[in-house]
Amino acid sequence: MSVTLADAGAAARDETTVEKLCEEAYREKIAEHWTWNYIWNNIKWSQFIPMVILNVGLVGSLTMYAFGLHSIPIKPMTVAWIFIVGCGAFVGTTAGAHRLWSHRSYKANLPLRILLMFLYSVLGLYTIYDWARDHRVHHKYVETDADPHNAKRGFWFSHMGWLCVHRHPECLRRGREVDMTDVRNDRVAMFQRKYGTILNIIFCFTLPTIIPVIYWGETVMHAVLTQVFIRYVLGAHCLWSINSFAHLWGDRPYNRLINPAENMLVSVLTGGEGSHNYHHTFPWDYKASELPYINFNAATMFIDAFAQIGWAYDLRQPSPELIDKIVHRIGKKSTVPVQHQQYWLFRHISELGSHLRLSLRSPKRFLGQIFMKVHRNFHFCETRPHQQ
Ligand SMILES: [Zn+2]
Ligand SMILES: [Zn+2]
Repeated sequence: MSVTLADAGAAARDETTVEKLCEEAYREKIAEHWTWNYIWNNIKWSQFIPMVILNVGLVGSLTMYAFGLHSIPIKPMTVAWIFIVGCGAFVGTTAGAHRLWSHRSYKANLPLRILLMFLYSVLGLYTIYDWARDHRVHHKYVETDADPHNAKRGFWFSHMGWLCVHRHPECLRRGREVDMTDVRNDRVAMFQRKYGTILNIIFCFTLPTIIPVIYWGETVMHAVLTQVFIRYVLGAHCLWSINSFAHLWGDRPYNRLINPAENMLVSVLTGGEGSHNYHHTFPWDYKASELPYINFNAATMFIDAFAQIGWAYDLRQPSPELIDKIVHRIGKKSTVPVQHQQYWLFRHISELGSHLRLSLRSPKRFLGQIFMKVHRNFHFCETRPHQQ
């Protein structure tokens, strides 16, 4: 019996109310072929020019630090500060803008919503309202003209190009149609919509930059380069990798009919958002992955911790039976034996002898083999966690 996305959607609708994933409208209009000429004529210069400046700044800063071109040494606390601020921004985005405001996969009380709103402001991008609207359209019309970052238009468009060009009319139309009543009724999200620019200036740029200067005597140059060009721009690239890497490369064990994939690299870069084939199949799951703490799922840990004190509640997730049912119907049909990732290290240690022999006989083949192994094992989650 052939199984369609609509069938999958029928099962999914049992447990979701906010979105209607995999409904008949999915793939109703596949993207056309886009030419460079078309893209050039549609560039939004007000977005494109800052994007170029920030990315040139990122490359310049990374080059300077990589080759030690700075005369005054950077303080270790400033390096740690990049990760501390970056983690705060990521939690605000993944647990807040994504899993709470876009998917309503759990409920949060007022103090937690305020905390998430401030953490999200550290990211310094668009408003929660815009984030949630674009993301709902993305899920509903994934990889069609209506998808804001349609991965069918190529890696660079889905990664960052979509922010630099005018939107497709279909995307604008679907964006106006999407139901945003719940976000409009959320006072915290609407406060952030109103004062987003001021909040971004304070929490994304000003505080993270002046704290190292005031509290541990960092130079203004290091504070600006590490917080504005490295943490802000590199952090944005990590989040954008969900739209590019996780829509192009990886395995599809839960739903072989869609392009979003399981991508380990994206999980590492984003703190647990790389189980994208699972997420597009079960978008209302607050974990955004089948098992809670695999693949660096920091946002799930954060939500679970606040659930312990009652600030997060009504955590939604599909039953194991529903997951099995969907996987059986539309999951990957593969004859390739599943890999046991927990035994990955043991397997490679046992193969150490043959690796050494090959490295002596043919270094070039050895390097090629190592590259392929790293590529396979770190970039992609190869299968469902409980199958391993
Ligand atoms: Zn996606
Ligand atoms: Zn999502």
